[in-house]
Amino acid sequence: GSLLAARDLRKAYGRTPALDGVDFSVHPGEVVAVMGPSGSGKSTLLHCLAGIVRPDSGTVHYDGHVLTAESDARRSALRRSDFGFVFQFGQLVPELTCLENVALPLRLNGVKRKAAETTAREWLARLEVDDVHGKRPGEVSGGQGQRVAVARALAGRPRVLFADEPTGALDSLNGERVMTLLTDAARDTRAAVVLVTHEPRVAAYADREVVVRDGTARELAGTA
Ligand code: ADP
Ligand code: ADP
Repeated sequence: GSLLAARDLRKAYGRTPALDGVDFSVHPGEVVAVMGPSGSGKSTLLHCLAGIVRPDSGTVHYDGHVLTAESDARRSALRRSDFGFVFQFGQLVPELTCLENVALPLRLNGVKRKAAETTAREWLARLEVDDVHGKRPGEVSGGQGQRVAVARALAGRPRVLFADEPTGALDSLNGERVMTLLTDAARDTRAAVVLVTHEPRVAAYADREVVVRDGTARELAGTA
């Protein structure tokens, strides 16, 4: 069955409808791309699925929980323990080294320093950025920084990875490499991936594509 599922999500900002009755589901180990033009409601959908934004109506089910009915505190706790996030940029802590950045979520989840750093090293190696351990995010390239961000998101073994335009700031070669590493790692760990993008080239890495237009979603035929 699906790990994360939404039914009839509706959300408006004032008079602007962002979601107008959206259904969505993703299985463990499955990568689903959420496509659509700018302003179509993709980010709002991601934020509702991740429990960051509460929809006006509709429900989000995650692993036996009705996420939309949980308290803010409970949703935050689930987000920290079960979800990983990768954004377009600006997600690494500038004062910490790349290794410390990757280890940080593990430390916050109670993993001891040594074990957290060992895991962080393994993930940096897997994302093919072994040489940035002691550097701060400001001292590495955009492509390297994004690999560090993916390593950090996956090191905590999230059950759902939310990626919002994860390659938006990268050139196409780096973008393709990051997408390959991200989707391979997610499938290996059986993480479900919600991949928001407006680029067909990026969506091509997904198992399935959902198109959002004017706040409604439909499955793109022939991609399953
Ligand atoms: P996308 O991610 O596809 O670009 P969004 O989900 O960001 O779309 O936005 C959907 C609609 O909701 C747009 O009309 C946008 O202007 C509006 N919107 C999104 N976030 C906010 C907000 N915090 N306040 C007001 N309007 C918002
Ligand atoms: P809280 O402050 O406890 O998080 P809110 O003020 O955000 O609660 O929401 C009030 C009530 O409305 C909550 O008890 C919640 O269960 C319910 N609720 C809000 N949005 C949804 C939704 N999309 N689906 C189901 N229940 C919802």
